[in-house]
Amino acid sequence: MAESKRDYYEVLGVSKTATDAELKKAYRQLAKKYHPDINPGDKDAEAKFKEASEAYAVLSDPDKRRKYDQFGHAAFEQGGGGAGGFGGFDFNSADMGDIFGDIFGDLFGGGRRSSSAYNGPMQGANVRINVRISFMEAVFGVTKKFEMNMKEECPKCHGSGAKPGTQPQTCPKCGGKGQVIYSQQSLFGMVRNVQTCPDCHGTGKIIRDKCPDCGGSGYVRNKRTIEVAIPAGIDSGQSVRIRGKGEPGTNGGGRGDLLVGVTVDRHPVFKRQEYDIYSTVPISFTEAALGGDITIKTVDGEVTQTIKPGTQTDTRIRLKGKGVPTIRNKNIRGDHYATLVVQVPEKLNSEQKALLRQFDASLRGEKIAPVQTEKGPKKKKGFMNKMKEAFDEFSE
Ligand SMILES: [Zn+2]
Ligand SMILES: [Zn+2]
Repeated sequence: MAESKRDYYEVLGVSKTATDAELKKAYRQLAKKYHPDINPGDKDAEAKFKEASEAYAVLSDPDKRRKYDQFGHAAFEQGGGGAGGFGGFDFNSADMGDIFGDIFGDLFGGGRRSSSAYNGPMQGANVRINVRISFMEAVFGVTKKFEMNMKEECPKCHGSGAKPGTQPQTCPKCGGKGQVIYSQQSLFGMVRNVQTCPDCHGTGKIIRDKCPDCGGSGYVRNKRTIEVAIPAGIDSGQSVRIRGKGEPGTNGGGRGDLLVGVTVDRHPVFKRQEYDIYSTVPISFTEAALGGDITIKTVDGEVTQTIKPGTQTDTRIRLKGKGVPTIRNKNIRGDHYATLVVQVPEKLNSEQKALLRQFDASLRGEKIAPVQTEKGPKKKKGFMNKMKEAFDEFSE
């Protein structure tokens, strides 16, 4: 989505380091100023109210705020085309519930707002499902198939809910509007309060003879297989949005969206943080002391890395571009950080012990009799070579 969006901090007029209390205060002020109930019919105020609400919804959630700080608006936008859009933030539904409860609970005396409900086309509700994927599937992306019980228009009555040959009748209580309006005095003057019609439940119609197939609901449920392309780089807690696969709309409104929440299983070797991967790699005492080639497991397979003599435990090796692909561009990847852990041998034979003592003494500049190795005197071997030979079994 290319439309330019204002920075959320700018929208609320707070600094990037604003506390939760500051965010809430800033939002309350904007909400009081621009709330649609206070500015009936003012499109500009409504847009400002929505903008502020969205900004607050994101910044008041620590997890979303962290994502926003890192990726900006892109963190909550659609991925590039196709069915497998990515979106972690759903402005229209549940996410906003808590915030309105929180902010407007005291502002409007506990009443949930329902001002924009109107008996016109209404988009269907979003449907949420959850899927578990493996660590590697999250790294490289995966396509998952689901069987879903999709709510669809009843073919018998074509969604009217009325028995074929009969017609739904206009609701006498609301005159077909689907809602009843009353006015209420509030802190901010007269507030027009709108409620869904209790008789027709907002449809504006009363069905006398119900369709036998759908029982008057106008909908039936059918098993459908849905394919979801989960993009490479997705992380636990994020979700994929599939447009138009949610609940059907009413009065000609489009279907809602299907939101597929993703949980990523742990990996025995790799740990992920944002787009970087971390692992620990055991190396032998001899490898650490003498240096050489070691093997490091990455998500792309094993790579060989040369380490220098005298490598210390906790040495960290950065393997550039071996991390997780970013959601926006799978060719841009994080890095892999391998922490080398030197394994101290637990069981030593007498020859190995003697060599270590000799080694220790040589470090202190003392001289003790050279150790006879079992392989005999042979040619003169360097001390380090003898060490290597004696400890090589630990390298495997
Ligand atoms: Zn029907
Ligand atoms: Zn009614």
